[in-house]
Amino acid sequence: MTTRRFDRAVVTGGAGFVGAHLCALLLSEGLEVTAVDNLATACPATLEDLRRHDRFRFVRHDVTEPIPLDDPADVVFHLASAASPRDYLALPIETLRAGSHGTEQALELARRDGARFVLASTSEVYGDPLEHPQHERYWGNVNPIGPRSVYDEAKRYAEALTSAYRREHGVDTAIARIFNTYGPGMRVNDGRMIPAFFTQALAGEPLTVTGTGEQTRSICYVEDTVGGLVALARSGYPGPVNLGNPDELTVRQVAERIKAIVRSDSAVEYVDAVVDDPQRRCPDISLAREVLGWEPKIDADDGLRRTAAWFRQFRRAE
Ligand code: NAD
Repeated sequence: MTTRRFDRAVVTGGAGFVGAHLCALLLSEGLEVTAVDNLATACPATLEDLRRHDRFRFVRHDVTEPIPLDDPADVVFHLASAASPRDYLALPIETLRAGSHGTEQALELARRDGARFVLASTSEVYGDPLEHPQHERYWGNVNPIGPRSVYDEAKRYAEALTSAYRREHGVDTAIARIFNTYGPGMRVNDGRMIPAFFTQALAGEPLTVTGTGEQTRSICYVEDTVGGLVALARSGYPGPVNLGNPDELTVRQVAERIKAIVRSDSAVEYVDAVVDDPQRRCPDISLAREVLGWEPKIDADDGLRRTAAWFRQFRRAE
């Protein structure tokens, strides 16, 4: 297994939820880290923590425009994109542009510097999958014109562009397909399942589960996900490679676990299903185990307990 060493990283979307954890991990490993972010869906509290670090630099910039950095990087992680359905449904064109123009600018930066490039793609490229669990060989079942297509197709385009830069320009690229990730640093109101359930349970309000609640998700704690991104960067592997937790839970089970962790007696309320919401989602991570020696270490109960502390603190700060 190859292990690359890096001194300088650029993280686009570095003020977001996953990006901030990635910056923190890279700083802890001794790198100089530059986060490039336009703050469209960023988490201000985590950015403030990063700014205290003297090897961290923040550049406020929209990555759909050429990225204005002079110092050469040796690894570029491209995470800039709205990721929560609430955000990308509110920012449809911006999301398409982040996946298309934004990916091109990030690839151009990596090409200029001869840097390793890691694309944060998503399990959403599998759409509402017809194969289960999802292996990287599966090409997906995506509605190209539905409301969610702005995210799914942007990421599919980003994967195609990344692959073309590898073939045409010899850029040292890698594609990570990230599955549902959660943890401290998520915005309370970002609309994703776990922040919504925590906020509702802590407020004593009903937990709103869409559809029957029997649809499944695999939830991966953010420290595991960013560990996988760094392992992929350090390997020579191009991917795509799934990063997620194969422990499959129904949405109803996630709601019940969160209620138990915060000792809430809130009801669970079933509301209309979301258009094109995937019914089953579970990664096959045999490739990540084999080529990266990576697998998640933190189980759902442990991860949800650590996340509960973040949402409790947020409520106290309100
Ligand atoms: P997030 O919304 O918390 O962070 C995204 C960051 O990108 C934000 O800080 C936002 O301000 C920034 N951004 C958006 N458009 C930009 C632009 N044009 N220029 C500069 N910055 C821009 O989302 P996240 O959960 O941290 O996701 C990060 C990445 O990981 C995304 O690419 C997402 O698709 C991918 N991903 C996340 C998950 C997950 O469960 N969190 C799952 C699969 C893939």
